Amino acid sequence: MKNTKTRSRPSSARRGIRTARTDSHTYSDAVADLVEIGKGFYARGWVLGTSGNFSAVISREPLRLAITSTGLDKGSLAPQQFLEMDEAANVVRGDGRPSAEALLHLAIARGVDAGAVLHTHSVWSTVLSGSHASQGGIALEGFEMLKGLEGVRTHKHREWLPILENSQDMIELGERVSKTLRDTPGIHGFLLKEHGLYTWGAGLQEAKRHVEILEFLMEVLVRSGAAQSA
Ligand SMILES: [Zn+2]
Repeated sequence: MKNTKTRSRPSSARRGIRTARTDSHTYSDAVADLVEIGKGFYARGWVLGTSGNFSAVISREPLRLAITSTGLDKGSLAPQQFLEMDEAANVVRGDGRPSAEALLHLAIARGVDAGAVLHTHSVWSTVLSGSHASQGGIALEGFEMLKGLEGVRTHKHREWLPILENSQDMIELGERVSKTLRDTPGIHGFLLKEHGLYTWGAGLQEAKRHVEILEFLMEVLVRSGAAQSA
């Protein structure tokens, strides 16, 4: 299984292995990076108590994502705890079960052509997404750190971070995520109310940078008291 190389390998079909899987090398590279990201985010307190989930697009046509299985400690992920899933969240590689939120990862991968999607449950995103829910989002403006967001060149940039009502119905929530991505082009992430942050990037390193920038800015807003007056 680990040595199954390409989707065109004829012997894989004879052995009953589903042939639409992506190249093992691409998959294992993405998984290795996601393991490291999990350790770092856990250490920062952004994915405690098995919260959060991470994915990387490893094939566009057909759409395939490497994603964390559900319910795992993100500080000590092992490569075998990842899955490869297709565009309908069916598992095509690995033994675990995808998180219910896998549908949101797919909505983002499709909606903004993201190459990686990272989801965290920090204290700061939980506080801010509750306190600002009635305004529908949070405006981030005037901070030098905004320049860490892809395409942003000046601290004068105004970044809108939409807040969506939380839900356990991932089909319905996935539709609202897709609508938000259509209606607010250019955003770098969004919050689910009293739940957490979703952000993304062209690749994993860009997505990781966006988590760091947005978490930094949310922490600044709460610690400075600036968020209370909004
Ligand atoms: Zn979550």
